[in-house]
Amino acid sequence: YAKNSGSGLHVYEKGLDANETPERLALTAELRQGISAGQLEVYVQPQASLHTGQVLGVEALVRWRHPRHGLLFPDTFIPLAERNGLIPQLTDAVLEQAVAACGRWRRAGHRLTVSVNLSARSNLNENLIASVQQLLTRHGVPARALTLEITESSVIRDPARTRIVLDRLHDLGVGLSIDDFGTGYSSLSYLRQLPVQEVKIDKSFVMNMLAEASDAAIVRSIVDLGTNLDLTVVAEGVEDAATWAELERLGCTNMQGFYLAAPMPLAVFTDWLAAREGHLAEAR
Ligand code: C2E
Ligand code: MG
Ligand code: MG
Ligand code: MG
Repeated sequence: YAKNSGSGLHVYEKGLDANETPERLALTAELRQGISAGQLEVYVQPQASLHTGQVLGVEALVRWRHPRHGLLFPDTFIPLAERNGLIPQLTDAVLEQAVAACGRWRRAGHRLTVSVNLSARSNLNENLIASVQQLLTRHGVPARALTLEITESSVIRDPARTRIVLDRLHDLGVGLSIDDFGTGYSSLSYLRQLPVQEVKIDKSFVMNMLAEASDAAIVRSIVDLGTNLDLTVVAEGVEDAATWAELERLGCTNMQGFYLAAPMPLAVFTDWLAAREGHLAEAR
């Protein structure tokens, strides 16, 4: 219905994108309802030390259990949520499940961290700070166990404001990570200006680093840069043992990827972790 209003900007500010097709408008309405109805599910993918193989934490990755289309991946609905003002609700739903799960693991004796993705359209504002603070308190999770992943594009949209909010989150003790590092612009200056403790090397470089000399050079440069700045460097997209070994040789510290495990439902992760700890204990 927004199509003929003549002012896309006005409609956008109301929270709806004038350029959506009828199908996408329908899916957007379903997404809005689905978020309230609890249809978003957090999957988790473990991260491990490259040196010891020990699982250190997980990244929370959202899925939409759609009543008719089945399990939908983020690339099918995050852009829609971004264009239609649904990111704050989506982020709240993911944070809630992720922090609650982290609290359960920690009470069961697993000192795991959880990382949550913020979108470029995430409201980096007072509300986010307040809801993060409340969540951590409610679930008894120390701030250092939560990491928020941002991309360079979220910084570019409003660097001054982003900086203020990230500084406040940092003061709370929450970890900050730059996701998909190497794919954005002027990464280097942000590392100096923002209270970041971690960079994640984008999987597009890691997946091809054994075949492509240029990708290997980028990975090596990011590892060196991160090491020199005292940052944790996470390689994502590690799919085989040879890549794992090469990353360890380069001095990269942490990994995430199908070679360790694909993203899995929260309930499956508990069993996966128990089985893996059993294996590691046997191997010792
Ligand atoms: P990301 O944050 O860079 O997440 C990593 C993506 O790489 C995940 O895809 C994961 O399944 C995939 N991946 C992990 N290891 C491997 C591997 O070894 N090989 C390959 N080929 N892929 C691997 P997923 O879950 O489809 O998520 C895609 C993107 O969607 C994420 O990229 C993130 O940008 C976004 N996203 C996911 N969950 C959320 C969320 O809760 N909020 C927001 N704002 N964005 C999210
Ligand atoms: Mg991420
Ligand atoms: Mg990434
Ligand atoms: Mg990504």
